Amino acid sequence: MQIPKEEKTYVMIKPDGVRKGLIGEIIRRMEQRDLKIVALEMFQPSREQMDKHYPKDEKWLRRIGERTQATYTKYDHDIKRDFGTADPLRVGKTVRKWLIDYMSSAPLVKMAVQGVHAVDMVRKIVGDTMPYLADMGTIRGDYSADSAISANIEHRAIFNLIHASETPQEARHEIEHWFGKKNIFKYKRFGIDE
Ligand code: ATP
Ligand code: MG
Repeated sequence: MQIPKEEKTYVMIKPDGVRKGLIGEIIRRMEQRDLKIVALEMFQPSREQMDKHYPKDEKWLRRIGERTQATYTKYDHDIKRDFGTADPLRVGKTVRKWLIDYMSSAPLVKMAVQGVHAVDMVRKIVGDTMPYLADMGTIRGDYSADSAISANIEHRAIFNLIHASETPQEARHEIEHWFGKKNIFKYKRFGIDE
């Protein structure tokens, strides 16, 4: 029987997650929480694929820029020194470029994960975007310690181990982008599906 509200989400282990040897641990944490891996592959993405993965809309770019700006204000750092501007849209565009550079620099692991409210559950297992703020017990909180400021001084993306879709709609789009319509498996997990 299908569990009510079961949905799928998209997860990618970023280059720092792969290089820290966390592939197994990340999958274990998902499976331990009764989430089911329904597609899985290691691969080397192209810049073009990554460019299509990350949103380009002004709202998303501004959100990244505004969050970055808030961190700089909180810690009294000069955003213009690292970005040459304080405009959230331009900051967001620069971060997006660093992110694409980073995500296409080394092999990643991609997966589709299925379960009850999978999108929210996986986001909870993953933890806050900023590793230094992520709760202990989350993947980012247990295995990383980066921040926007330490990353931006070096003109790079924040190393936070893993990507996970934010909404079911984003998840559908990302699963189709990375796996196509067909390559998702169906099987029953003992104790969960029967
Ligand atoms: P993801 O989308 O990777 O799952 P998230 O949803 O927690 O992470 P977003 O706000 O969507 O976070 O940002 C996407 C990614 O952009 C972050 O995971 C991080 O790697 C990177 N990022 C965000 N802000 C900055 C910043 N100021 N400097 C460098 N990298 C950043
Ligand atoms: Mg995101």
